Amino acid sequence: MELTEVLDLADKSGFSRAAELKVSTIDLNPQVRQMCADNKCKIYDTNWACPPGCGTLDECGKKVNNYQYGVILQTTGELEDSFDFEGMEEIKEKHNVSFDQLVNALFDKKADMLPLGDGCCSLCKKCTYPDEACRFPEKAFSSMEAFGILVSDLCKLNNLEYYYGPNTLTYVGCILFN
Ligand code: SF4
Repeated sequence: MELTEVLDLADKSGFSRAAELKVSTIDLNPQVRQMCADNKCKIYDTNWACPPGCGTLDECGKKVNNYQYGVILQTTGELEDSFDFEGMEEIKEKHNVSFDQLVNALFDKKADMLPLGDGCCSLCKKCTYPDEACRFPEKAFSSMEAFGILVSDLCKLNNLEYYYGPNTLTYVGCILFN
């Protein structure tokens, strides 16, 4: 697919920003991946798209190397204060809705893609992990952290801010494609 077409679809999906992601800037860092095993999110080992279900870091690296192009996607929102947990959830939900919409639009166009979201795959109400195979392996998405990506660094390397000022919060995802 053409980069301009994917950026156009991203704009229509409601993100605050979408920009080209140079695949060469992606660095898979074992320390970031280790944070998943610390299980602060409480979803480690519960989803095919999270570690260990999504494969080793080497296997993730091989998947990344299959792709030539990428887009980085951000949703920024404002919070009343740093304890506005409801506001945080709303921004996250908005980002996830946009992300699902873009993944589905690319899937409909038969795009060869690797989506990496903010948080684990949420395509099914309940993931089939570990008893049955993933229902939608072409669309399922891991988090960027599950692939060992330090999100703030990746934004910087692709000329995007990560922090947009006090009482703002930004969620980030990316999609690699050919
Ligand atoms: S598509 Fe469904 S089964 Fe597959 S990883 Fe996502 S939630 Fe799990």
